[in-house]
Amino acid sequence: MGSDCLFCRIVAGEIPATVVRETDTTLAFRDIDPKAPVHVLVIPKEHYADVATLAQGDPALAADVLATSAAVAEDEGLLGDGFRLMFNTGAYGGQEVFHVHAHLLGGAPLGPMLARDLV
Ligand code: AMP
Repeated sequence: MGSDCLFCRIVAGEIPATVVRETDTTLAFRDIDPKAPVHVLVIPKEHYADVATLAQGDPALAADVLATSAAVAEDEGLLGDGFRLMFNTGAYGGQEVFHVHAHLLGGAPLGPMLARDLV
């Protein structure tokens, strides 16, 4: 994907980010506009648009994203009290950056899963 994709540019080092963990296949960095005391984005270095495309195209890489998310959760001290791991996907999911990313949120009670009931 490359120059058109914000997160590919972070992977390439062209845009700065506060990186908290890096593996051969994944990168974890702090969200620029945090919604919780801990808000880290975990991405595969390789470009996939969303979690469905990633899981269908490279399940092992999807597992790497989960493993890195768990490692960051441990590093950030979230395993005891818990956390939320979220993949916004597509228009209804509110996805804004089309390079798949897990939002790792924690450090305080996160409230209900959705702001309001939709059914
Ligand atoms: P989503 O709506 O799920 O696509 O989330 C995109 C996330 O990327 C938002 O939480 C933004 O705050 C975050 N974001 C956008 N630009 C950057 C950046 N340069 N560095 C870190 N996080 C970013």
